[in-house]
Formats: sequence, structure tokens, C-alpha cells
Amino acid sequence: MKIVVCVKQVPDTADIKWTENNTMIRDGVESILNPFDEYAVETALRIKEANPDSTITVLTMGPPQAKDALKRAIAMGADEAILVTDKKFAGADTQATSRTVAKAIKEKVGNFDLIICGQFAIDGDTAQTGPSIAEHLGLPQVTYVKEVEATGGNTIVAKREIEEGIQKVEMQLPGLVCMLKCDYEPRMPSIKGVMKANKTQILEFSMEDIGLEHAQVGIKGSPTFVSRAFRPEARNAGEMINAASAKEAADVLVEKLKNDKVLV
Ligand code: FAD
Repeated sequence: MKIVVCVKQVPDTADIKWTENNTMIRDGVESILNPFDEYAVETALRIKEANPDSTITVLTMGPPQAKDALKRAIAMGADEAILVTDKKFAGADTQATSRTVAKAIKEKVGNFDLIICGQFAIDGDTAQTGPSIAEHLGLPQVTYVKEVEATGGNTIVAKREIEEGIQKVEMQLPGLVCMLKCDYEPRMPSIKGVMKANKTQILEFSMEDIGLEHAQVGIKGSPTFVSRAFRPEARNAGEMINAASAKEAADVLVEKLKNDKVLV
């Protein structure tokens, strides 16, 4: 199987700062591989273990320092890495990002069976990029996936989390899945893996290399405008009611609400 894992480098901090145009300030902030993408890489590695003739390409659109996220994925066990990078990509919203990533996959990976994304990036957190990549490439997609079963045939079975429990979906390949946190943990890179990552040449492509135009990428290709970004106000911790039964807990709650004059 030929697997492509889309990864994003994200700031390793909860203390996010914004420019006056409401874009995130990333300079001077340490970066990590998006945690959901670690699960995406781990899922690809497990598919490869079950189907040893598989290859795993990790791909990101980002600035030159995003190479570190690709190296982390190589150190975990991915085979090759692609960085799509160009000053003209600055200011890209999810539409421009997914268009760029999709075109890079089409032009530079060619035939693939499965694209694996994270469900969310912990900074932007829109969960739009994976589904949009599938739309740009005309692929079927399964979101909110916790596990992928691949037997090497032309379908996979994805277990996805829904409110009522777990839903099993069979998807025709080529297709795309978006990974949630799984029941298994992503592996730590081995020393051998880190040495391999330092030696592996990361393939770099610009906007021209993937055949896109300036109006299609970065801020020019982005229809989204962020009108306001704010941190939600901190709320007081809730109070737990410990009671022997649900009825007793309800009685205690009603009494409290009456005392607080919420109920009369
Ligand atoms: P999600 O959609 O939540 O990510 C889900 C998954 O998609 C990830 O787990 C990963 O698998 C994949 N994915 C996400 N991003 C990438 C990527 N780049 N490469 C490969 N795979 C990916 N960001 C900047 O860095 N600089 C800017 O100047 C900038 N300007 C912006 C301007 C506007 C108006 C808006 C709306 C956003 C801007 N952003 C900018 C944020 C940028 O659009 C998002 O970071 C990006 O599109 C991914 O969206 P997300 O973070 O919500 O990821």
C-alpha cells in the first residue's frame, strides 16, 4: 500500500499570541508535531507492519522549520518526507492549505492508496483540512477514526467514534481518513530512527513546482477572514455532588438551587 500522512507543525504552548490581523504569532515559540498527526503516523506504521510492502510518505505545507515535524515522523518509521514550502503560502486559510496539499500529493506522490490526516490541528483546530483535501482530490473520506484495518486489498475498514459508540465503515481505496486519539499510543522514535531521520533527504517543492498560481495559494487564495480571536473567560470549577443514588443527588441539587435562589 502507498500511504501518505499529512502532518502539521504546531506551537507547543497554550499561551498563544495573535497579530493585530488575528493570525497567530509563531516566532519564538517551540514547535511540535501535531499530536493527532502522531496518531496518524502510528496508524500508518501499523498498516505497514501488517502489509510489509507498504511505503509511508509524510507531507507538510509549511515554512522551512516544519522539516522538524517531518523528521520526527521519519524517526518514528516513515519512509520519505515532502516539504511544500514557499513565501507565497503565507496567510493560507484551510481552503488554500488543503488545495496546496492536495495538489502536491497529486503532482509529487502520484498514485497512492490511502491518505491519513489528523482530525484536528491543536492550534487552528478547524478539522477542515483533511476533509477538504479529500474533496479537492475527489476521494471518499472517513472522519473521527480511531482504528484502521487494512488487509492489502482495495478497501479498508475504519472504526469511527460516534455518539452512540463505534461505527465500522468500509471504504474503497484510494481514500482518506482523519484520525482521532487512538486506543494505542504513538511510538517514540528510536535512536536508529533519529539517525535515519538526520540522513534522509527531505524533498522540497515550491508553488511553481506543484503547478499552482499565486491567486490560488496563501492569503490571496484564502476566502476566510478572522474577525475576532479571543480567549474564553476562565470559569469557576464545578461542584461534585456525592450521593448514594441519583435520586438523592437530585434532591441535594434541588435544595442547593433553592438555597441559591435559582429555584423558588
Ligand atoms: P485542521 O484542519 O484542524 O487539521 C487537521 C489535519 O489536517 C492535521 O492533523 C493534518 O493532518 C492536516 N493538516 C493541517 N494543516 C496542514 C498542513 N499545513 N500541511 C499538511 N497537513 C496539514 N497559518 C499560518 O501558519 N500562517 C498564516 O499566516 C496563517 N494565516 C491564516 C489566515 C487566515 C485567514 C486563516 C483562517 C488561517 C490562517 N492560518 C495561518 C492557519 C492555517 O489556515 C491553518 O493552520 C491550516 O489551514 C490548517 O488548519 P487547522 O490548523 O485548522 O488544521
